[in-house]
Amino acid sequence: MAKKETAPYKIYLTENELPTSWYNLRADMKTKPAPLLHPGTLQPLKFEDMQPIFCDELIKQELDNETQFIPIPEPVMDFYKMYRPSPLVHAEFLEKLLDTPAKIYYKFEGNNTSGSHKLNSAIAQAYYAKAQGLKGVTTETGAGQWGTALSMACSYFDLDCKVYMVKVSYEQKPFRREVMRTYGANVTPSPSMDTEVGRRINAEHPGTTGSLGCAISEAVEVAVSTPGYRYELGSVLNQVLLHQSIIGLETKAACDKYGIVPDIIIGCAGGGSNLGGLIAPFMGEKLRGEKDYRIIAVEPASCPSFTRGKYVYDFADTGKVCPMAKMYTLGHDFIPSANHAGGLRYHGMSPVLSELYHEGLMEARSYEQTAVFDAAVQFARVEGILPAPESAHAIKGAIDEALKCKETGEEKIIIFGLTGTGYFDLVAYQKYNDGEMSDYIPTDEDLAKGFASIPDIGL
Ligand SMILES: *Cc1c(COP(=O)(O)O)cnc(C)c1O
Repeated sequence: MAKKETAPYKIYLTENELPTSWYNLRADMKTKPAPLLHPGTLQPLKFEDMQPIFCDELIKQELDNETQFIPIPEPVMDFYKMYRPSPLVHAEFLEKLLDTPAKIYYKFEGNNTSGSHKLNSAIAQAYYAKAQGLKGVTTETGAGQWGTALSMACSYFDLDCKVYMVKVSYEQKPFRREVMRTYGANVTPSPSMDTEVGRRINAEHPGTTGSLGCAISEAVEVAVSTPGYRYELGSVLNQVLLHQSIIGLETKAACDKYGIVPDIIIGCAGGGSNLGGLIAPFMGEKLRGEKDYRIIAVEPASCPSFTRGKYVYDFADTGKVCPMAKMYTLGHDFIPSANHAGGLRYHGMSPVLSELYHEGLMEARSYEQTAVFDAAVQFARVEGILPAPESAHAIKGAIDEALKCKETGEEKIIIFGLTGTGYFDLVAYQKYNDGEMSDYIPTDEDLAKGFASIPDIGL
């Protein structure tokens, strides 16, 4: 075999090396992820059940556990060209700082205006809405990354975009709100007075600053009751992991080009979309018995879905309007403690990743937020990128593995996902810099309250 040339600091694929299909990891899973259930009948959701909520083509993708490769539509490929390929970067300066024999690479998804990987799925979801002839879409957003990505995607395809933004974020994070409005989205603080569920919640809890669960309920209500609209979601769902496989396919192609074979692949996990995308082709090889990799999910100690959650059916949202999913969950009433600033606050986890974790095909660990921000700052100062707090969980995981290599002298190859930039998270950085950031690990009693909200359906 010809010796491959040494990889540069930043590996970019050329245009004709770009993946042209998404990879559907479910096709290679022996045990498929558990189906979404109708909350009333407890039967698996069928195409027709989902039609009032989601776009037809996206429902097909949601239900398709068999097709291994799904071609990326031409208009989505065109949009991807604006900010893809994303680089796989050899973190030489971080290696030097840590004085480790390990080789560390990161796949950087923050090089677009939305500042995160979420645009990879937003543009696909907007495209399918447009192709179906819809007028617009609705969604919810917490801190605002997903809302921003969907606003950009909708403006590109000339679709109306209604975003229900958790009221406390709407008020405290005006900059993301303005990016969304600049891209033409209609942004409403949730709970609002425009929807039945919003009016009810406002009446029951006067002065409430909202929650993600409530914003989801509003967005779904508007989608279902407005002709020509559907609802779109930025994580957790099978279809989102499918679109995010572009991250892993590019990573794999870049590795193959330079003969890089990772030992360990690390990603942060909120709802699981970036991690599911990054690991997809590698996990595929593992499932087919071709190769083995260690795969590590990193989550906040204050929202430990994988490491302390239960693998059961639970509601996907606090308002209980969405289907039930079998996943690692802390209970749909679980809310991380008020001092938690580092994102990744969803109570559940992707059903695909949940099944893989349940089968022991991947590991998970959690870190406290001050340690995560320590890692973020170490990284920012040597590699030049100010990471999103979410991404910093993966940085912390990679640093710890690299330091283990320093002890053992092993030259392991570590790849992690750097999902985005932290320019809109400066209030969290400010807390850290002012020494006002604290850690809180939920006690078993705290978690028991969340678990009590899990419906007992015997599954
Ligand atoms: C939303 C987000 C995440 C977490 O979502 P996943 O679905 O778990 O990937 C991680 N990093 C960034 C920058 C995000 O915006």
